[in-house]
Amino acid sequence: MSATPPVGHGLGAPNAAVGATPASRGVGPPLWLLLELTYRCPLHCVYCYNPTNFAHTGPELPTADWIRVLREARALGAVQLGLSGGEPLVREDLEPLVTEAHALGFYINLITSGVGMSEARMRALKAAGLDHIQLSFQDSTRELNDFLSSTRTFELKSRVAALIRQHGYPMVLNVVLHRLNIDHVGEILELAEAMGAEYVELANTQYYGWAWLNREHLLPSRAQLERAEGVTQRFRERLGNRMQIYFVVPDYFETRPKACMSGLGSVFLAVAPDGTAMPCHAARMLPGLDLPNVRDSDIRTIWYDSPAFNRFRGEAWMKEPCRSCPERGRDFGGCRCQAYLLTGDPDNADPVCDLSPHHALVTAAVARAEQAGSAAPAAARERPLVFRDHRVSIAVITGDPARGGAPARRA
Ligand code: SF4
Ligand code: SF4
Repeated sequence: MSATPPVGHGLGAPNAAVGATPASRGVGPPLWLLLELTYRCPLHCVYCYNPTNFAHTGPELPTADWIRVLREARALGAVQLGLSGGEPLVREDLEPLVTEAHALGFYINLITSGVGMSEARMRALKAAGLDHIQLSFQDSTRELNDFLSSTRTFELKSRVAALIRQHGYPMVLNVVLHRLNIDHVGEILELAEAMGAEYVELANTQYYGWAWLNREHLLPSRAQLERAEGVTQRFRERLGNRMQIYFVVPDYFETRPKACMSGLGSVFLAVAPDGTAMPCHAARMLPGLDLPNVRDSDIRTIWYDSPAFNRFRGEAWMKEPCRSCPERGRDFGGCRCQAYLLTGDPDNADPVCDLSPHHALVTAAVARAEQAGSAAPAAARERPLVFRDHRVSIAVITGDPARGGAPARRA
């Protein structure tokens, strides 16, 4: 699924932060709640954002705990709910969870590969009150779709797309872009148009989890990126409002970082399958962040009082150049996970920023991607693509920071 938080419509006014600690004073509620119901997934995407050591995490929360999380988060003011994974359809209790979330008044978005969806489940989910379905494709061609996911799922996804339409949902497609498929953007948009898509998210890969392991294979060249943007713009001009196309540029090509999660601990709360609560779905890689677990604490305590959720609130944690930068209120220093992965210190400025003393780490990676056009750069040929896989996840990947080890400090 996409690493992007769910989108939808807000519901009602959030509650105030009653009894907040000094560090969290002035912090609003977690408006976005993302429940990663499981790390199980039949697919093996090379860009999956799940942690590479997912096989080492604890057992999945039972239904009763998820329901408690829903109730506590809604009472706190959460309005948008994403149900993700892994593949959330592997959870047999998905329908009762949707029923509960709907009764509580959440706007509910299912983020799925489509594997596990059937006519009967679609009916049941609709009856339970599911609002929105975001379906992921890997590519416009069966060959690359199936290669990138290491499954034969292209036809199945096409059938699920038809089911989504039949049941009156808006057609929302998500395709993660990278070096291996970005030249197919025209065909991907033609496929989306043929399927009657109303929304298409072309999200360039974010380099966390398995995507980080495969970065040398996946980072596109600037020429590829510009061609894809040009194709996308021509589609926008031709289709007008018939199909909304979101093209999310890879931040490695920018000179300022993204305002990651609108600031950690600001609006977003993710809960991993084992109950770990996180201010960002990649945050379990960050060193020294003693992440709370919903098995031990309620959501209010986790959100307002836990050291982990307060760690990156405000500006006190910032180092130079962010600390005195006039732009710090706009981007909050960028992504903490990217700062850690690239520099080894999560308090550093995101190296995407050209004011960062580590910016050369990003430009060097981009330069390598430029060398070989659409072919894999030399660095990638030394290390084959790693597919998200349970057995690989069980194996110790020495020094892989995405599994919580020491950062690799590579350029
Ligand atoms: S393997 Fe693919 S479909 Fe499964 S969770 Fe990862 S990105 Fe999503
Ligand atoms: S120095 Fe820090 S705060 Fe300033 S623009 Fe760069 S990342 Fe943002």
